[in-house]
Amino acid sequence: MMFGKEVPWRRLEGMSFGMYSAEEIRKLSVKVITNSRFLDAVGNVAPNSLYDLALGPADNKEVCSTCCQDFNQCPGHLGHVELPLPVYNPLFFDKLYLLIRGSCLACHMLTCPRAAIHLLLNQLKLLDHGAMQQVYQTEQVLNQYLEENPKATGDEIEQVLKEFTDTVTGEDTEGSENIKPIKHLVEKKSSLINDFWRIHMKTRKCPWCRSGRFTVRREHNSKLIVTMPSGAQTSDSTDDLMAEREST
Ligand SMILES: [Zn+2]
Ligand SMILES: [Zn+2]
Repeated sequence: MMFGKEVPWRRLEGMSFGMYSAEEIRKLSVKVITNSRFLDAVGNVAPNSLYDLALGPADNKEVCSTCCQDFNQCPGHLGHVELPLPVYNPLFFDKLYLLIRGSCLACHMLTCPRAAIHLLLNQLKLLDHGAMQQVYQTEQVLNQYLEENPKATGDEIEQVLKEFTDTVTGEDTEGSENIKPIKHLVEKKSSLINDFWRIHMKTRKCPWCRSGRFTVRREHNSKLIVTMPSGAQTSDSTDDLMAEREST
């Protein structure tokens, strides 16, 4: 029998995956990798390279300088490379493309209405809290508010939705302890996010500066090619974006 009475065990209720933040990576890392050469001129492991002994020994003649264990015992340790410029994560290239496509490249604002952004953010927060039914109620709360206040500003909309979410999650009262896990949470989240892309991120004209839509085309999942709307003024910032960027 795999789980005897004496073996403590827990039933898994959920699992989620995420990315480390830059700060977390730096905290986990035992070494900044700054040397592109693996070995020095005489064939020894080059310090601050990918073969640095702080990351673990590369063969059984060496000992790890972080945990002092040998090749068989050392679990290996994380290092990191500081990038001199912001670089997109290739795993998120699709999302980057959608974001650029939903942005105005003249005034650098998202072209969707602020109400849509706050609606999505609050719905995601409610999902995390397990309040499935209220996810759909949020939309009614927003519509009702907009009916009564057609000229509501983004800040006012943000406030109304936040108040609703806080009441549900109990953040303004006794704390958010009662989190109910939802099955297929990731699926539900991505369906909300996909609806957002589909409905709100394809405005023809920028509502903020009225400039026409830039056409963005992607190539080989590593390049974005931007074509300015006809008659648009060239500005320095758009020139930067026009430059093709290749991932290495
Ligand atoms: Zn080690
Ligand atoms: Zn604009």
